[in-house]
Order: sequence, then C-alpha cells, then structure tokens
Amino acid sequence: MIIVLKPNTPREQIDEVIAEVAKLGYDPKPIFGTEQTVIAAIGDERTHHTLESLNVLPQVQQVMPVQRRYKLVSRESHPADSVVDVDGVKVGGSNFTVMAGPCSVEDEEQLLRTARAVKAAGATILRGGAYKPRTSPYEFQGLGKEGLRLLELAKRETGLKIVTEVLSERDVEHVAAAADILQIGARNAQNFQLLIEAARSGRPILLKRGLSQKIEEWLLSAEYIMANGNPNVMLCERGIRTFETFTRNTLDMGAAAAAKMESHLPVIVDPSQGCGVARLVRMLCRGAVAVGVDGLIIEVHPNPAEALSDGQQQVDFQAFRQLMEELPPFVAAAGRTMVR
Ligand code: PEP
Ligand code: MN
Repeated sequence: MIIVLKPNTPREQIDEVIAEVAKLGYDPKPIFGTEQTVIAAIGDERTHHTLESLNVLPQVQQVMPVQRRYKLVSRESHPADSVVDVDGVKVGGSNFTVMAGPCSVEDEEQLLRTARAVKAAGATILRGGAYKPRTSPYEFQGLGKEGLRLLELAKRETGLKIVTEVLSERDVEHVAAAADILQIGARNAQNFQLLIEAARSGRPILLKRGLSQKIEEWLLSAEYIMANGNPNVMLCERGIRTFETFTRNTLDMGAAAAAKMESHLPVIVDPSQGCGVARLVRMLCRGAVAVGVDGLIIEVHPNPAEALSDGQQQVDFQAFRQLMEELPPFVAAAGRTMVR
C-alpha cells in the first residue's frame, strides 16, 4: 500500500503516520518530497490489519493499493492467454469459439432441432437454460432436471458440449453432472457462496458480468472462483444497465477489451442479452470479434416468436447460419482460428 500525505505535513505528523504503519505490522518506507511525502507500507495485507483505516488520520490524503486486487486473474501474474479445455474444445489462445442455442430448453424437439442447426452452422458448444432467472415469478422458470436430461440427450446426439446456468448452490452438483460449463448468470455474479460452490465442482465456469457490476468487481468475482481452486474461468460481457432503453442492455465492448487487457482469462461476448434485439446481433458479433475476444454466446431458436423466454433477441436458424457464414473473414483478420 502507498499512503499519500497532504502537502506540507509537518515532520512530527509524518512520524505519527510512520509509527502507525509500523504498529499495524508493516515496514514503513517514507519518501520525502519538496511538498508532499508518501509512505510505502511493505507487507502482506492478507495476514495484517488493513491500512484503509489510516484514511481517518487528518494528515492522510489517500491510501492506495499498489497491486491489483485480482491477483490470480490478473495478466500481471500470468502474461500469456489462458486456454480453457471444455471436454476437448479449446477456448482462448488463438481459438475462436461459438456457443449457441436457445435461451431456455423448452422441449425435446425444440432443443434437438436447434442443436443440429447450430452444429451444422459451426458452433461447438450448445447453450440452453434449464434453470431460468426470471424477473417475474409468473414467467417460465425452466424445465429444471428435465431440461438437464434433454441437454445430455442433445450432447449424445450431436457431440456438442453443454453450457447451462446454475442458479443456486443447491443445484451445483446435478447441474455439474450434466454440463461441461457452468454458467453463472448476471444476477448471481456476486453471489459469492454460489461462486465458491461452482468453483469446487471442478467444471469450467462461464462468468457473466453483473447487471451493474464494475469491471474490477467482475474480475474479483472471477478471483473468487480461482482462489477456490478452479482456474478454468471464462469471462462473459453481456451488457450492463444504462439510461438507454432502445436496447435491453448496453453491450460494453470497452469492458470486453479491458478484460482482455487486464486478465489472461478467455473473454466471451453475449450479444443477445447484450442488446436484446435480434436484428442487431449480427453487427455486434463482428464488433466483438474485432475487439479481440475469444468467442461468442448467441441465442438461437427455431421460432423466436413462440419462445418461452427472450423471444425478441433470439435469432432463427437462417439468421444464425448467415451470421456464421459472414464471420470467418473477421475472425481471420483478428488473428484467430474458428474452432470447428
Ligand atoms: C441467459 O443467458 O439466458 C441469461 C439469463 O443471461 P444473463 O445472466 O446474462 O442475463
Ligand atoms: Mn436469455
């Protein structure tokens, strides 16, 4: 930590802070400037008192951390891109991976038809919610265990890997038994107990960014997973709440780029939740590729008008096929290889 003192602090008040830093168990190293003095406090904060409390001293201007708070997630600790192995499908590095499927698993026919269509178009991972986090308790809540069974069936038939959301600690074990990737939804991005339980399952985790989560907070949520022994984390930018209502959320490409810069973990963009408008999905996919992310997760439905959730943002088979046909030159220009 660095403690910045107010300009022209008299020597005895500087010594007071130095003594306080030492009392809290750190080694104080003062640097005396012509007007301003800063004190570097050397020591491990995990085993010592926090120095934030020094902010209460009148001569202290600011107490600042030197290191990133997300240590394991940070590129500082691991400069090379991490590659997450999803039952043989590689996410990250030079790979570009497409995950696609319905918002919700609705029935066998809907899921299998979608699985076949997204596979034929080039996706390698099938998405589909069996447990749905709905804003209203009167909306479709997902098929639960039956949905997981259908996802397993789709995997057996097509070979696609499965990503599906886990809503509660209670469900981690049986969702992990059916899924290749556990999705932590935006609404649970700071449900730390769920993050810990999901981490312990050993499954790769797709961590959505919270609805109003700052980038640092999102990376700290990923840190919870890594600190609990699971290095296989993928960060997913899915839009945030802003003043804008034309789009459902504001897809934050800046955050996707920042996550790539700050962290070695693969970054996935979800243009579907990201804007909530089916006709915009195609353009946002290209934008995400250009920003340099590692993959996309896209909602696809056989008949979006009849979908039980998120109908307005799901693309149909034809739109998905077209989008996938247009993507390879963009992926190549970004220096990636589309995983097939
Ligand atoms: C979803 O993927 O359907 C979903 C609910 O995502 P999010 O948590 O990002 O809203
Ligand atoms: Mn959805």
